[in-house]
Amino acid sequence: VPDMTVDREVPADDLTSRAVVVIGGGPGGATAAALLARAGMDVLLLEREKFPRYHIGESLAASCRVIMGLTGAVDSVDAFGFPIKRGALLRWGGEDDWTVDWSQLFGDDARSWHVDREDFDEILLRNAGTQGAQVIEGAAVKRVVFDGDRPTAVEWVRDDEPDRLRSTAFDYLVDASGRAGVLSAQHFRNRQPHEIFRNVAIWGYWQGGGTLPNTPEGGINVISAPDGWYWVIPLKDQRFSVGFVTHKTNFGERRKAYASTEEMLLALVNESPTVASLLTEGTYQAPVRVEQDFSYVADHFCGPNYFLVGDAACFLDPLLSTGVHLAMYSGMLASGVIASTAAGEVSAGQGRAFYESLYRHAYARLLVLVSGVYEQYEGKDNYFWLAQRMVRDDAEGVGANHAFVELTSGLTDLSDAVDARGWAGAQGLSQEVEIARRRADEQTGGDRPGIAVFRLEPSDLYDEATGLHLVTSPRVGLSTST
Ligand SMILES: Cc1cc2nc3c(=O)[nH]c(=O)nc-3n(C[C@H](O)[C@H](O)[C@H](O)COP(=O)(O)OP(=O)(O)OC[C@H]3O[C@@H](n4cnc5c(N)ncnc54)[C@H](O)[C@@H]3O)c2cc1C
Repeated sequence: VPDMTVDREVPADDLTSRAVVVIGGGPGGATAAALLARAGMDVLLLEREKFPRYHIGESLAASCRVIMGLTGAVDSVDAFGFPIKRGALLRWGGEDDWTVDWSQLFGDDARSWHVDREDFDEILLRNAGTQGAQVIEGAAVKRVVFDGDRPTAVEWVRDDEPDRLRSTAFDYLVDASGRAGVLSAQHFRNRQPHEIFRNVAIWGYWQGGGTLPNTPEGGINVISAPDGWYWVIPLKDQRFSVGFVTHKTNFGERRKAYASTEEMLLALVNESPTVASLLTEGTYQAPVRVEQDFSYVADHFCGPNYFLVGDAACFLDPLLSTGVHLAMYSGMLASGVIASTAAGEVSAGQGRAFYESLYRHAYARLLVLVSGVYEQYEGKDNYFWLAQRMVRDDAEGVGANHAFVELTSGLTDLSDAVDARGWAGAQGLSQEVEIARRRADEQTGGDRPGIAVFRLEPSDLYDEATGLHLVTSPRVGLSTST
């Protein structure tokens, strides 16, 4: 946890200045740094860990591959040999098995991977360096210095010289520090939890196992239980990531029955005939990991010359495997805004409005969809309908589950950013947000923040940003729609 109360003098030799400082080298920070460096900007990325480092978040949306085509990382990721993922199979509520097959709907190019994040994140971070960003690992940001409402410098230490405080001034700051949230959790303290998603995840790894029949190539299995859901993810070399997600209260109650989290995970696996059957050939590999309270949103995603990217801004329950998509997507949007603002192509206010509305829109839409899918009894037709209304007004002619698949693969967000027609979904979205708010109120008795903590009005979506769209060639930036 960064110490935001540093008050030591910084020696003059340790004062430097850069165009852009990026805090954090996960997928969000590495994407922003690579794109900004490719746009010719002077970028310093500070990462407190030394990579490779463990991280959860192994099932990637198809959009990630598209974005990596822009950052220059896609060939290295392809070459590494991660198993290819072409969709998902959900055994959900009382439904028949439900497949999400990207190839069927979008062709062979719609694919991603199942990744060990220590390998994947390291490739992305090295790529940021190859593209021209300076990357320093083992460098923890301790504090962001502000002049009024404008951040001007970061103070940071290297782990090999913990007593030497360095300060780097910048024109633009990208906070991609993940759940640690240097700005939102440490400085502004403006992060709100989503009460109805106060979930806990418990997971581990198995050597050997399988996925359900009819799973699209390399697909994730998502299996519901009366009080939560399981993931089964096929990783490289026949390893399987297996997790269970449930509400915090339920987790706390059930935890009491077991001597250890390991005993609990093994019991949970045996409790589900489906999951147990997939792991009959598998051998459990310690350790068990647990994370809790991972759904939240900051009350603003950017401000004067700073941008919160990925989990630093908001986090959505992992049900639809969209976290890395949102991190890379927001990293790409922030780079476009910074590059165009620095070049004088758009005003700082226009750029911020564009970022706030597109990222919040993408997040809110997936949040509404996830909360819809959690309502197991409503059935998949209802989720498809929900998705269709949020993707486009004229749903006619769209295949039954097309909109759902397009949304959860991250492809809708990409087309929104480049294509003004994407905004047609805004009206449907605001109605769905209202429905989700009412449902949250019912579930929480109306006295907890629930989903209503994210501010989203149709006017937010347009604001000054209306008419701007993201361009990716010859570099990332913003342009006026014609
Ligand atoms: C149980 C669970 C399951 C999940 N499953 C999936 C999934 O299947 N698919 C998916 O897409 N997503 C999944 N996610 C979400 C995914 O893990 C995140 O959304 C994603 O990693 C966010 O990327 P990021 O770059 O924003 O942050 P991170 O990947 O967390 O990177 C942030 C980086 O910032 C560094 N940092 C932090 N503080 C500082 C500091 N002060 N100074 C310098 N560096 C700092 C950290 O060391 C870290 O490397 C899951 C999450 C959970 C909790």
